[in-house]
Amino acid sequence: MAGKRASGARQPLSQRRPGKAGGRASVAKHVAKSVPKKLAKAPAKASAKYATKPTAKPATKPATKPATKPATKPAAKPAAKPAAKPAAKPTAKPATTLAAKSPKPRRIAREQLPAHAAELYRRLTTLYPDAHCELDFRNPFELLAATILSAQCTDKRVNMTTPALFAAYPDAAALAVAKQEDVEAIVKSTGFYRAKAKNLIAMAGDLVDHHGGQVPADMDALVQLAGVGRKTANVLLGNAFNINVGVVVDTHVGRLANRLGLTAETDPVKVEQALMPLFPRDSWTMLSHLLIWHGRRTCDAKKPKCGECALANICPNSPAP
Ligand code: SF4
Repeated sequence: MAGKRASGARQPLSQRRPGKAGGRASVAKHVAKSVPKKLAKAPAKASAKYATKPTAKPATKPATKPATKPATKPAAKPAAKPAAKPAAKPTAKPATTLAAKSPKPRRIAREQLPAHAAELYRRLTTLYPDAHCELDFRNPFELLAATILSAQCTDKRVNMTTPALFAAYPDAAALAVAKQEDVEAIVKSTGFYRAKAKNLIAMAGDLVDHHGGQVPADMDALVQLAGVGRKTANVLLGNAFNINVGVVVDTHVGRLANRLGLTAETDPVKVEQALMPLFPRDSWTMLSHLLIWHGRRTCDAKKPKCGECALANICPNSPAP
């Protein structure tokens, strides 16, 4: 009986085996297992909420808006405007001028170009045996100043202006310290007078600062001067120093080189590169004078006098057969 009662009765706490379910330790374990799970889920849910909301908005909005707007607007506008305007203007004028006589300028075959160029030069020297630079000058400084003034202006107008300019400022040292408004007043009739006065004073300053007040007889040094580009430098070298470094390509030379079939290029630098191999180097300065003289007297930009032109029978743009 005693054994039965002992086995059926509840064991004293001291004899119970630890780890069995129902003990304090198991309660603690249960709490420990269940609580962290709940707590773990709660932050996960919360973080999921915060994770989606904040990341969704910045991720979509900034990604779509900045990507579309800047990509379309700046790309469309700058590309369209500069491409259309400069392309239309320079090509439009020569094309229409030549198109009046011939819709498509006729060409001279490449292998015939040297003989064609030689014959043109021969005829032009016969026509204009005294062709020369039509700007008045007494020294390189005066020619440099006159050439700067001749941009977008006739030589005749420049020659009416320079006597007063050189009387007031006979050399680079005097012009370098001139007042802008005084020079502007003298050169006003040549057009673009503010820019021209500014360039004249700056050019004179460069001569004083870097060349002892003298005009350098060197292409690289000349094009470093204010207001002086390759065309002006070629004018200086050919006419003031008798040095043939290149061909002066102004509006007349460019137009006649096209009409006479010497080149189809319209960019002055490319026209110059096309002309140089066709003519002997020592004739480059005179070639410019001859083409300029023929352009001014016969082969006008708008109304070329093909009917009385001595080159008509070898000019590919002449209406004559
Ligand atoms: S024929 Fe004479 S005027 Fe006519 S386009 Fe030729 S070069 Fe000019």
